[in-house]
Amino acid sequence: MSDFSPAPRLRPWQRTAAGVGLLAADGSIATTIFAEMSALATRTGAINLGQGFPDEDGPVEVLEAARQAIADGVNQYPPGIGAPVLREAIAAHQARWYGLDVDAASEVLVTAGATEALAATILALVDEGDEVVTFEPWYDAYAALVARAGGVHRTVALHFPDWRPDLAELEAAVTDRTRIILVNSPHNPTGTVLDDDVLDRIVELAVQHDAVIVTDEVYEHLAFGVAHRPIATRPGARDRTITISSGGKTFSTTGWKIGWLTAPAHLVTSVLAVKQYLTYVNGAPFQPAIAAGLALPDAFFTDAAAALQAKRDLLAAGLEAAGLTVSLPDAGYFIVADAAPLGYDDGAALCRDLPALAGVVGVPVTAFVHADRQGAYRSLVRFAFCKRREVLEEASSRLARLGSR
Ligand code: PMP
Ligand code: GLN
Repeated sequence: MSDFSPAPRLRPWQRTAAGVGLLAADGSIATTIFAEMSALATRTGAINLGQGFPDEDGPVEVLEAARQAIADGVNQYPPGIGAPVLREAIAAHQARWYGLDVDAASEVLVTAGATEALAATILALVDEGDEVVTFEPWYDAYAALVARAGGVHRTVALHFPDWRPDLAELEAAVTDRTRIILVNSPHNPTGTVLDDDVLDRIVELAVQHDAVIVTDEVYEHLAFGVAHRPIATRPGARDRTITISSGGKTFSTTGWKIGWLTAPAHLVTSVLAVKQYLTYVNGAPFQPAIAAGLALPDAFFTDAAAALQAKRDLLAAGLEAAGLTVSLPDAGYFIVADAAPLGYDDGAALCRDLPALAGVVGVPVTAFVHADRQGAYRSLVRFAFCKRREVLEEASSRLARLGSR
C-alpha cells in the first residue's frame, strides 16, 4: 500500500504564529477572517458589516467601458506589464493628484488587485530571514505573505482610539535587517492617515538602513477632510518606494481585481519577474474600464469620498447610540469600535455571537494582530460602512439591542 496522503503537509510558513495560520492543525485550510465572516453573514442572514465591499455599483462610465471592451474583443491576454491605456492612465493619475512624474512605459505594473502587487513585491524582495516592518494591526495579507516568503514580521503598535504610532517604537523596529517598511495609509482596519512627520521619519529610516518602502494606498481617494499624501512624494522617498493601489475601492469594483504599482524601473522589473509566474496577466476588458475611471473629473472622486463620509457618520452615530466607543476614521471603509463599555471584553466571541445578538456581522480586530499581542485589541470590532444608507440604518437599530440586553 502506498503511504501517499492527500492531506497537505504543514510547512513552517503555514504554521505562522501571527494568528494567520493558513492551515489548521488538522491540515484543513483556515479561511481568511473576511471569508469566514461573510460566510457567517450568509448562513445567518445577518447584515454583513464584516468584509469590506460596497453593496452598490460604481460609476456607470466605468461599467459601460468594461461592457464596451468585451464587445470590442478585448478578451485575450493583455501585455504582461498591463494594457498601455491603463498604464498611461495610472501615470497621468499620479501626476494629476500628487505631482508625481511616473514613466508609463517602465515605472508602472498592472496586477491582479493590490493583493497580487503585495504578493509579488514581497516574494521578489524578501529572502529567508529578511525583516518586514508593518504597523499593527495590519491588513491580513501582510503577515501571511511575509511568512510565505520566509521573512520575519516586525510590527509597530497603533493604539485605539487615535492610532498614532510612537516614533521611538518605529525607530527601534527598523534595523539593518529590515528589507521592507510596509506602510498602509489610509490604513485598514483603523482608518488612520499617517501624518507627514511619520512619513518623513519612515523615509529617513529607510534611507539609513537601506530598506525599500512599500506603500499600500488602496484607500487613497476615500479620505474624509484630510489630505492623503503618498509617501513617494516625501523628500528622498521616490527612488526606493513601491506604491500600490487598486481600482476596487475607488470605483466600487472589488471583484474586478485590477490593481497596480508604480516604482523605479529596476524595482518594477524585480516584481514583474515574480508576477509573470503568479497570474501572468488578468482582467483584459477591465483594464481599459479602470483607465476610464482614473480619467473621471475630480468631482467624481470628491463626491465619492463625501458620500462615504456621510455613511461613516451614520454608522458611527449608530454604534455610539448602541453604547460602543467609536474611533472615528479619517479614511477608508471601516470603523473600529470598542465593545467593552457594553461588557463585551472578547471581540472575537462577540463577533461569533453578533448575528444572534443583533443580526449584524463585524470583524474582531484581533484578527489583524499577533497572537501574543491581542490584549490591547481584545474588545475591538471593525465594522464596514461602505453600504447603502438604509442598510446602515437597519444595522444601527439592530445594534441598539446590544445595550438593552
Ligand atoms: N490592501 C488593503 C489595505 C485592503 O484593505 C485591501 C482589500 N480591500 C487590499 C489591499 C486588497 O486589494 P485588492 O482587492 O485590490 O487586491
Ligand atoms: N479588504 C477587504 C477587507 O478588509 C477584504 C478583502 C478580502 O476579503 N481579502 O475587508
